[in-house]
Amino acid sequence: MKPIPYGRQNITSADWQAVHSVLEGDWLTQGPHIAAFEEQLAHYCGARHAVAVSHGTAALQLVCQALQLQPGEQLWTSPLTFAASANCAHYCGAQAGFVDIDRQSYNLSVTALQQRLQLAAEQGKLPRILIPVHFAGLSCAMEEIARLVKPYGITIVEDACHALGGRYQNQPIGSCLYSAATVFSFHPVKSITTGEGGAIVTNSTELYQRLLLLRSHGITRIPEQMEQAAHGPWFYDQVAWSYNYRLTDLQAALGSSQLQRLDLFISKRRALAKEYDRLLSHLPLLLPPQGNGQEAAHHLYVIRLQDSWVDKRLALFEWLRSQGVGVNVHYLPVHLLSAYRQLGFKEGDFPHAEWYYQGALTLPLYPDLRPVEQQRVVSLLEQFFSK
Ligand SMILES: *Cc1c(COP(=O)(O)O)cnc(C)c1O
Repeated sequence: MKPIPYGRQNITSADWQAVHSVLEGDWLTQGPHIAAFEEQLAHYCGARHAVAVSHGTAALQLVCQALQLQPGEQLWTSPLTFAASANCAHYCGAQAGFVDIDRQSYNLSVTALQQRLQLAAEQGKLPRILIPVHFAGLSCAMEEIARLVKPYGITIVEDACHALGGRYQNQPIGSCLYSAATVFSFHPVKSITTGEGGAIVTNSTELYQRLLLLRSHGITRIPEQMEQAAHGPWFYDQVAWSYNYRLTDLQAALGSSQLQRLDLFISKRRALAKEYDRLLSHLPLLLPPQGNGQEAAHHLYVIRLQDSWVDKRLALFEWLRSQGVGVNVHYLPVHLLSAYRQLGFKEGDFPHAEWYYQGALTLPLYPDLRPVEQQRVVSLLEQFFSK
């Protein structure tokens, strides 16, 4: 039987045609498809601007650079995320810190944030940037988080790499109502794909212009941005230090084509997640958070074994993998990765994220997961628990 992965892209002939037409055209990169994709993405999110970049990791790094995060400063995020959400602090010479998760939503805990902020304010160690991560595609409590950080002037950047297509307070995630910017990834397991790819959306024109500059070496062709007079029409100036983090036109065309099916992808994911909820309710599992009325993007379907079954997680993982089911574990909390342990983080620092990790398992979920395949995953789980 064909192995079932935990996540997978959906590619149609429309996607093929979109990429094909770029290959036949004049620009493979830096052509018209980038701006078109950016406009469509910004429109979808209800944000003023979008900047497409080479991957989600670059998006996080560029936002931190554009916000001028400095050595010695701090950036806080959730320990339950992909390492990139915290690594972006280090690219700027700053330090990453963490705020523990809430056991109901698996998102950054508002109570923990409140306590940490008070302590940090007393010690004079407040972060410059806070990155809430919309884990598995469910929005964090953005309104509460924004209210808490406001008195301290902390800038919020949403890591919505799981969450494109989800909604919060009936607005698309990415509307940046409570943040300076929101970051997306277009890796093949995410809501839409461009192969590798990412984007930043923002309502700030100043931040937008800075991001455009930093996406491409810190080089500008706009005379007003230059620090010396142009020598002629050929002239460009470099006014900051940066890298090449551009997306190609090939990728942008794929992105535009995928974006047209985003709502369809999300509705398929939602239906499959609902079906898992129904089929798994009799097993000794904690099913994913229901979302408190917020519409999740359903990036991951994460189950957690009930406490008395936690020591069977490895056996369950191995059993499902041996049967061709591509389960996964998202994530080992970032502070327990070796690079972070070397900075002094250790077991016990963020007990709720560690509790989650002990029993967590990600089941296959993607738009093209077929009902028979989902049924097979469920049957294998039932077999395991009846042994
Ligand atoms: C995927 C992901 C990233 C990084 O995105 P890439 O496009 O792979 O660089 C960052 N944060 C989170 C939460 C992610 O899931």
